[in-house]
Amino acid sequence: MNSNGGVLPVDPAAANQLLTTLRAEERIEWAVQQFGMRAVVLSSMQKTSSVLLHIMARIAPDNQILFVDTGFHFPETLAVRDEFIQRFDLKINTLHPELSPAEQKAKYGYDLYEFIDGQPDCCQARKEVPFLNHVRKQGTQLVMLGLRRAEGGARGNLQPLELDPRYSGYVLHPLLDWRAADVDDYLKAHDVPVNALHAKQYPSIGCSVCTTPVEPGEDERAGRWRHLRGEGVQPRYCGLNFSDGGGI
Ligand code: SF4
Repeated sequence: MNSNGGVLPVDPAAANQLLTTLRAEERIEWAVQQFGMRAVVLSSMQKTSSVLLHIMARIAPDNQILFVDTGFHFPETLAVRDEFIQRFDLKINTLHPELSPAEQKAKYGYDLYEFIDGQPDCCQARKEVPFLNHVRKQGTQLVMLGLRRAEGGARGNLQPLELDPRYSGYVLHPLLDWRAADVDDYLKAHDVPVNALHAKQYPSIGCSVCTTPVEPGEDERAGRWRHLRGEGVQPRYCGLNFSDGGGI
């Protein structure tokens, strides 16, 4: 029984035997068949999100797409969201933190994101809390993410379907077995809005104050929270995606 009184209808282990054999589109179709409108996408408006949103526009255009606007996004990121709404009529629901960036700074007396022990609180308040408040209130049962095993780190062990105890529901990774080249091939083959920063040495894009371009040879995520890295010091994943666990 989940927090909204609904019966959770799926055994993840059994479902994963099927889901591993399916293509991304079929995994999304499965999610919508199982959970109807209680299946949503959580989008970061990066490349893999563009793939997911384009598939949603084709096979489940009425299901909600969630986008958490931290107040620190690049204009290029917001432009992708707006283009998907305008061109594909997707139901993109923009969620906001309780405090504006200025209100948050006034509350703490400094910018949390500038410090290694402030970043987790900033990410929690500006990403995780708005997302969880929304899905708990809406009775969302399944959230689709664009994470891929090939990204490495905690993502190397992704399963297609996993439980997310934060809202007593599931997370689905339709693109978990896609390589970076598969994503690029899909985007080339379709006329899809893509975050313009990807063409400017930003393979991974988050908040503007916590994201830099990467140098040739650097890890894809080296530009995330670069200002917080030091010898033996690694910033944490933002906590928005439960599958990411700890570490960066
Ligand atoms: S990425 Fe940076 S600015 Fe954005 S929520 Fe996390 S710490 Fe705050």
